[in-house]
Amino acid sequence: MTNVADARYAVFEKLDRAYIGGEWVPVAGHERLPVIDPASGEQVAEIVGGTASDVDRAALAARAAFPGFAATPVADRIALLERIHALILERAEPLARTLTLEMGATISHARAAHVPLAAAHVQAAIDVLRDYDFLTMRGTTAIVREPIGVCALITPWNWPLYQITAKVAPALAAGCTVILKPSELSPLSALMFAQIMHDAGAPAGVFNLVNGTGPEVGTALAAHPDIDMISITGSNRAGVLVAQAAAPTVKRVTQELGGKSPNILLPDADFDRVVPLGVMAAFRNVGQSCSAPTRMIVPRDRLAEVEAIARRTVEAIVIGDPGEDATVLGPIANRAQFQRVQAMIAAGIEEGAVLVCGGPGQPDGLERGFFTRPTIFSNVATGMRVAQEEIFGPVLVIIPYDDVDEAVAIANDTIFGLGGHVHGKDIDRARDVARRIRTGQVHLNNPAWDPHAPFGGYKRSGNGREYGAFGFEEYLEVKAILGFA
Ligand code: NAD
Repeated sequence: MTNVADARYAVFEKLDRAYIGGEWVPVAGHERLPVIDPASGEQVAEIVGGTASDVDRAALAARAAFPGFAATPVADRIALLERIHALILERAEPLARTLTLEMGATISHARAAHVPLAAAHVQAAIDVLRDYDFLTMRGTTAIVREPIGVCALITPWNWPLYQITAKVAPALAAGCTVILKPSELSPLSALMFAQIMHDAGAPAGVFNLVNGTGPEVGTALAAHPDIDMISITGSNRAGVLVAQAAAPTVKRVTQELGGKSPNILLPDADFDRVVPLGVMAAFRNVGQSCSAPTRMIVPRDRLAEVEAIARRTVEAIVIGDPGEDATVLGPIANRAQFQRVQAMIAAGIEEGAVLVCGGPGQPDGLERGFFTRPTIFSNVATGMRVAQEEIFGPVLVIIPYDDVDEAVAIANDTIFGLGGHVHGKDIDRARDVARRIRTGQVHLNNPAWDPHAPFGGYKRSGNGREYGAFGFEEYLEVKAILGFA
């Protein structure tokens, strides 16, 4: 077991460093970016943001490493991924505590989800790589898959480590070299991850990390002529800016952006079971998940029953110090997000949505940091802002429907198309409804998480897919060699 204090100390020594070409090097920039503990609102660290010249250095290192790494035997890449997987699990506790510190994940959720699911993406990449056919034949034509090249990976603050491995693991499995830019708001777990890559023996230049802001480092990555692909998870705003900056160099762009995922409760669902499940799914990670099912779509004649169950569910949630084992709901991850969520709660009240529980302000006794009252609005109309805009906090809206066709129409009445849930006993009808929802994933009757199920968006939720074989193939080019046979 890695000692927690040692692992943390090691991170605090690297706050002014980038990891480039297999070494921790001082960044060229001078901009100091605070890391805030969202439970207290106090600064716990300060990183130095990188610059375009750090991106140049990282791109040079990644480019130099690419031909060698692309040619490595599959067995070598599997062995590297296995070492990365083992080190994530070995350092699980310091990683979990660091996530709690930098973005307020409750320690129980960090231990049970953030870290093990991050490791699961690495395992999924290993499983895909083990069975993957890089050359298939179609008549006399060979179809060859090759790594696309140097990939820039931009990740957000809501699931910091999980989003990193969902990109880095398939990219490395494919034989690409990478430059990671984690969110400037949650850079500490990323520094620990870079040390894991070093300790796992990633060849110099295969993995590089440059910390910094989106406008500075993110834009430089997107526009860089020597980067072949950019993958971003984050807001629509940033996703669009990345695509625009990337366009002149015609690099591949994959985007995993926002969501406003529906959760349709069909009339024959077991409401005592599925309403609490739906509330807790919406509030998981304090509602800061792009695929959180934040629109509960319910039969109009069951509205009062749903509201009562939802209220009882919220009353039982333990809110407080994310470092305590029993805490279920910690703070919002950062000040900007806290302010946005407060503004959206005010908008819901202004628009006349019925407040079932929660509301503006902070929970009693938790007036520090970015704690927010878990809030449910009912009798929401699909056109209201709270039903249309991604809130990214513990705010659930309940929207009534009169018949199943209307439920489907409401589910699809959004610019987004990331996730969706359907609950109902008549499985044929539930399947039919699932097929009519225009989203990249639909969860039918609360299934287990599947690291191989492709994840990504229809409409403005993004382009491309992550996880498993589909995520892996985003990092490959396709070459046809005619006359091969
Ligand atoms: P953001 O999009 O600003 O940040 C995500 C990542 O993109 C960060 O690494 C950031 O530095 C980078 N980035 C920002 N601007 C960029 C640019 N111009 N070029 C390149 N990279 C850039 O997200 P945020 O401001 O932290 O959150 C705002 C909203 O985004 C949230 O309210 C939520 O709706 C959404 N969000 C979605 C996800 C998701 O998983 N889909 C994650 C985080 C936030």
